[in-house]
Amino acid sequence: MRSTILPPLKVSTLHQTLLRALRLVWSMAPGWTAANMLLVVIMGVLPIAALYLTKLIVDSVTAGLAGPDPAAGFPQVFFFILVAVVIALSLAIARSLSELTSEAQSMIVTDGVSDILHAQSIAVDLEYYEDTSYYDTLHRAQQEAPYRPTRIVNGLVQIGQNGISLLGVAVLILTFSWVIALILLAAAIPAALVRYYYARARFRFEQENTESERQAGYYHWVLTDSSHAKEVRLFNLGPLFRERFKNFRTDLRKGRLKLARYRTLSDSASQAIVVTALFGTFAFIAYSTLQGMITVGDLVMYFLAFQLGIGFIQAILNSLAGLYEDNLFLTNFYQFLDLEPKIQAPENPALVPEPRDQKIEYRDVRFSYPGGTKDAVSGVNLAINPGEVIAFVGENGSGKTTLIKLLCRLYDPDSGSITVNGIDLRRFDPVAWRKEISVVFQDYVHYYLSAAENIWIGDIEQDQDPAIIAKAANRSGADAVIQKLPEGYKTNMGHWFSGGQELSEGEWQKVALARAFFRDSNIVVLDEPTSSLDPLAEADLFRNFRDLLEGRSAILISHRFSTVQMADRIYVLDKGRITEAGSHEELLKLKGRYAHLFRTQAEHYQVKHSEN
Ligand code: ADP
Repeated sequence: MRSTILPPLKVSTLHQTLLRALRLVWSMAPGWTAANMLLVVIMGVLPIAALYLTKLIVDSVTAGLAGPDPAAGFPQVFFFILVAVVIALSLAIARSLSELTSEAQSMIVTDGVSDILHAQSIAVDLEYYEDTSYYDTLHRAQQEAPYRPTRIVNGLVQIGQNGISLLGVAVLILTFSWVIALILLAAAIPAALVRYYYARARFRFEQENTESERQAGYYHWVLTDSSHAKEVRLFNLGPLFRERFKNFRTDLRKGRLKLARYRTLSDSASQAIVVTALFGTFAFIAYSTLQGMITVGDLVMYFLAFQLGIGFIQAILNSLAGLYEDNLFLTNFYQFLDLEPKIQAPENPALVPEPRDQKIEYRDVRFSYPGGTKDAVSGVNLAINPGEVIAFVGENGSGKTTLIKLLCRLYDPDSGSITVNGIDLRRFDPVAWRKEISVVFQDYVHYYLSAAENIWIGDIEQDQDPAIIAKAANRSGADAVIQKLPEGYKTNMGHWFSGGQELSEGEWQKVALARAFFRDSNIVVLDEPTSSLDPLAEADLFRNFRDLLEGRSAILISHRFSTVQMADRIYVLDKGRITEAGSHEELLKLKGRYAHLFRTQAEHYQVKHSEN
């Protein structure tokens, strides 16, 4: 069993799931759902009326034949036929309308459920993204949720419609023989059991194979997505990954087909029972007619009634089995919806202190990632005074980015705290606190939006003022890049949409920096902000860095000592702990790790220089 931070899967009772699904569908499409239900009642009643009319027609014809002038009976027969035509037409119209209402309802619900999935995806804590089971749950929810709630409503609708019809037919059948009615009911049960067991087996199969399904999806993505296209060609990964994709899909297909074969076999057997019971009943009805116990009209009516009746019973039992299946599958969706984010606003959040007056302190902070075997950071104490620039230096994996993620409250420390003017970050509303921070992460995002929007989304609460956007772009050096694009700030970035232009990594990084500058926050965090910038662009950025900050605090993470040496204080991290702290000069005098790394880098450049 894989360890997971997800709560255990609870299969809710059928009526809980049904009620929840009904509420969901009703809240999203009340008008269409009401129309659907009305049509159901109409479609349930009309077949019974048609059945009774058939009896009336046959009986009028037989009575006419038995009378002295058979033709005299025709007006009555004609009238019944006219009524039958009206009923048949109404039924046909009701069916078409019901297709429309179901389709509309299902489209609305599918989009609505996607919206719920999106809302929940951004609400859950980041730590879920480190959990494989979370991906399985999300995948199943995405696969099943868009259509299951509508299926549940349609299943209930079918049960309602068939139930109404069955009630009518049952009255007719019971007037003939209740024993036969019971036999027919019993004959339909094996077919329903087959569906029930199939649903359970299929659910278990899908639960157990979600990861294989996702693995296949992964190879599909790598083979078709543009971000992998270069390496896939260079390393000739195509044949290997196609093979792996095919293997996963073949195993999945074999498993599903095996289940489907069992279902077909059992279905055939259960249908044989139904057919035998039905034709046995027909023989009995024919015998009763020949004995003169019932009229020819009755014979036709009972024939049809039994045939319809068993159809209705089977449909109802099938729908029940379908509801059971939907219930199983929806538990995945509900499991996902019921995930409670741990990082939430407290009931009475504290007010975030005034910008430009925020002293941030890490107090004995320790944190390990969920499922991680060691602490990512531990025993960290540090302070950032208003307007200060500090820097984190250390090898890969030493905990620098983790300290930033904790500051942004993407995670909370396992022990210790981060405070602003003495107030624990956990006492703020996370949304309000995050407004105080601008971050350019190492893995910043390339948004396939216009250049202007790429910068504006740094602070969507501001207007899209071209002058302010251009000012931010100027500060990061992105303005010169954007001016060269065919439609300037209106140009779509990336190749996804029409007229889109791809940028170099360094150019994207300038846009990401502009996004951070556009955000009117109090703390600017740059995690390897210049890794893709050329030395000139980097020098430009840091020459006036303090002016650019306009009094804000900043945290820099960089491997380039040319960047970090301008910081007021530099913290050297090793295996999650701060090992040295001080200004560039102080750390050089200390002759410790920082001094060693600085000298190594400087020598490297000098050697390079002398080689040239
Ligand atoms: P740095 O920014 O100094 O390169 P990080 O703060 O990213 O280092 O990582 C610190 C430690 O935490 C590393 O050992 C890394 O393997 C681990 N780590 C980082 N991110 C995750 C994550 N999302 N899940 C689990 N472990 C992580």
